[in-house]
Amino acid sequence: MAVNDHVNLQQFMEGVKRRNPGEIEFHQAVYEVAVDIFDFIQDKEQYHEAQILRRIAEPDRVVSFRVCWEDDDNNVRVQRGYRVQNNNALGPYKGGLRFHKTVNQSVLKFLAFEQTFKNSLTGLSLGGGKGGSDFNPKGKSDSEVMRFCQSFMTELYRHVGEDTDVPAGDIGVGPREIGYMFGQYKRITNRYVGVLTGKGLEWGGSRVRTEATGYGAVYFLEDMLRQIKREIEGLTITVSGSGNVATHAAEKAVAMGGKVVTLSDSGGYIHDPDGLNQEKIDWVKQHKGYRRGRIEDYVKEFKNASFHADKTPWEVPCEVALPCATQNEVNEDDARTLVNNGLIALAEGANMPTTNDAVSVLREAKVLFGPAKAANAGGVAVSGLEMSQNSARLSWEEDQLHELLRKIMRDIHSSCQRYAEQPDGYIDYARGANIAGFKKVADAMLAFGVV
Ligand code: NDP
Repeated sequence: MAVNDHVNLQQFMEGVKRRNPGEIEFHQAVYEVAVDIFDFIQDKEQYHEAQILRRIAEPDRVVSFRVCWEDDDNNVRVQRGYRVQNNNALGPYKGGLRFHKTVNQSVLKFLAFEQTFKNSLTGLSLGGGKGGSDFNPKGKSDSEVMRFCQSFMTELYRHVGEDTDVPAGDIGVGPREIGYMFGQYKRITNRYVGVLTGKGLEWGGSRVRTEATGYGAVYFLEDMLRQIKREIEGLTITVSGSGNVATHAAEKAVAMGGKVVTLSDSGGYIHDPDGLNQEKIDWVKQHKGYRRGRIEDYVKEFKNASFHADKTPWEVPCEVALPCATQNEVNEDDARTLVNNGLIALAEGANMPTTNDAVSVLREAKVLFGPAKAANAGGVAVSGLEMSQNSARLSWEEDQLHELLRKIMRDIHSSCQRYAEQPDGYIDYARGANIAGFKKVADAMLAFGVV
């Protein structure tokens, strides 16, 4: 085959697998996008010629480094840190840092790849990146977390910068960890700049950042439902996770009149047939966030609820599902159960929580499916606004930020819709998000030439 002959999807994926052996999460993420892009670029020679998809699926840079720290018993501990800078065609690399024992290069490459399209959809000047470490903050003392964060930033600082790469939080990285890392960056460089987002309000953080991902996912859900002339009010909703995204998605869904009946963590899920209210959600935020407790304790506090160990919430009948915990938490069987129980919409609060097989089941059943790169883009959007505020050394008002978030989510919905409508009338948001996200990055890359 001549170099410029078009490869087909299967040949493309074989190449991805050959060049990235064993990185199954990365293969999954690339396939999920490539399916739609191959179809879209079929008759668009310029994207083929410039090998755009092949280039987006090859990170600009993957940095991996040793992170040594001492625990409270003076044992030397060794972790691995990473930063994957996937693509900066649209702006500085941007994406969270994840501290979790499951972190590896494959997971971070999948997340950085996804982030590239998500950030494109926000309409802001943001490239895509992701990073983190296999460090597990659970059960560590504050000073252990501080020593780890300082050691991690002692290497990371040379790869990031307010116009280069601006990391944020993700699983296991909240305001405490961002604070320790920002402090170390400032100490090493003697510069007070917006090099991280998700900062505390007193030192450069943005209002509404904490709520943005969960609220944004529910706004996206609202816009999807409007297309079929339905609304959130009165719908039964299952939510997984009990962290930042899950609790804020639950909060907004309840505020809009939805009945949220589940939350979960890695130990199992709680089912509250009475539905959550603000008091219960505040309790979960405290218990899971600051006290780092287990969701099973919910049933001691709220007596009508039950706990289901080692299970996910998808067996509970609902009309809407909001997976907000982690990747691959809704599998094909779960999707079938959800569909059989009358699911009408699923919006992804977490990144890639639905397996490709499960997505196929939802698409076949014509369930509205809000993919992560669109539905959970609210968080990175407000992070982008945090960067703007930092550059201008200003702090915008809460109302203004809520309005901007609502507008950005509506615009993302419209961008997806442009490429989503199918001949039978089904709105395929996954396809719409992939194509709209891809097109902007691809067109910028074409303008830059072969670099
Ligand atoms: P948090 O660390 O605040 O919460 C994560 C939640 O998921 C916890 O309840 C955790 O439970 C649960 N969880 C983790 N692993 C599993 C598992 N294997 N099975 C079941 N539950 C699990 O993270 P976030 O809420 O910030 O992030 C959740 C998801 O949303 C991630 O996919 C993240 O990438 C994505 N996301 C987050 C954004 C943000 O702004 N925070 C932005 C965009 C996407 P436990 O306490 O037991 O570990």
